[in-house]
Amino acid sequence: MNPIPAVAPFAEIDPPARLLMGPGPINAHPRVLRAMSAQLLGQFDPEFTGYMNETMALYRQVFQTGNRWTFLVDGTARAGIEAALVSLLEPGDPIVILSAGRFGLLLSEIAERCGAEISVVAAEWGQAIPFSAIEEAVARVKPCVVAAVFGDTSTTIAQPMDGIGRLCARHGALLYVDATATLGGMDVPVDEWGADIVTAGLQKCLAGPSGSAPITISERAAARIDGRRHVEKGIASGGDRPGAGRRIASNYFDLAMLMDYWSERRLNHHTEASTMLYGARECARLVVEEGLERRIARHLLNGQAMARGLEAMGLTLFGDQANKMHNVVGIEIPAGVNGERVRAAMREEFQIEIGSSFGALAGRIWRIGTMGYNCRKDAVLTTLGALEAVLRGEGVDVRSGAAVDAARARYAEG
Ligand SMILES: *Cc1c(COP(=O)(O)O)cnc(C)c1O
Repeated sequence: MNPIPAVAPFAEIDPPARLLMGPGPINAHPRVLRAMSAQLLGQFDPEFTGYMNETMALYRQVFQTGNRWTFLVDGTARAGIEAALVSLLEPGDPIVILSAGRFGLLLSEIAERCGAEISVVAAEWGQAIPFSAIEEAVARVKPCVVAAVFGDTSTTIAQPMDGIGRLCARHGALLYVDATATLGGMDVPVDEWGADIVTAGLQKCLAGPSGSAPITISERAAARIDGRRHVEKGIASGGDRPGAGRRIASNYFDLAMLMDYWSERRLNHHTEASTMLYGARECARLVVEEGLERRIARHLLNGQAMARGLEAMGLTLFGDQANKMHNVVGIEIPAGVNGERVRAAMREEFQIEIGSSFGALAGRIWRIGTMGYNCRKDAVLTTLGALEAVLRGEGVDVRSGAAVDAARARYAEG
């Protein structure tokens, strides 16, 4: 046997007061943190199941949907993506994936594990995918599922969703959308889009921590999933018939079982992550209280102020600005500047975190978010002022004060 090394008890967690202005996670709203410090309840306690029902009702507002099946998957945003795809796809099913960034690649990675026949409609990172290319692929492939990312934070581009739902309905395909980075910050009208499953996470515009994945499921998608229903032994008390289809390959992410758990029958599956549910519920309460329209306008205003400030500094914004997300901006790292040194100085001297990016964009762009709790004028102005100082320190020719002035001018326009 190996000896167990002795360990000091370490200090209580006491994180530094950072301002998280990257592409997520961002600082949680204090109300969300307070909700998450509440005491636990048993998962079938009527008070707790009441909170579950309230959470479903609140997220119907956030997703702008009448979908009965609107609830939480326990896990980070990726858990929602995986639950959707593994519950929809059987081996050999054709899927069309819209891919123009890291999270488009993730859809392919998961669909491949499901054994699906993948057709990718791609665009260069930083560009949106033209509708004509999507139309052509769907007509040619006749997929069971079309999967898209609305707001790929890796590139800061929001794929236009107009017409995709109708296209899918015309060809008998279900539409899945990853709205992790946009829900609560941009317009995500699930029913109007005709999207069948949409998933998200809390750590972007919803102002919470990662660890809970809100999901909404149309009747059409629920019927397909129900056809793959598998009845777990020792759980149901008679009358439960398995569906005729091949059972879903994952137990934890089996949406048929999760729907049973969130239904009035409360068929036991996992133990609901109570603390995450408290947090997710508070995130949605904040959205409903503020009003979606006002919240989206706030994200647009602060995102524009940030972008104006960066441009006034003489920096070049990355990607197709006509399709830029409201809540994240990409900036090309000026030639000769060490991007990681700038990020380190921002963090060490100003306690501000900004992001880098992935793959081909690693070392090429920074990403700055204005999301959720940090989607505020003071956070924008402080970040611009700090970045200007750091860049000047790195020898970049930046006109002093221009960034903050330009952002303030945008706020003055209202
Ligand atoms: C941030 C982000 C995710 C994150 O997934 P996690 O599992 O919560 O890390 C997924 N999809 C998109 C589009 C994102 O922007």
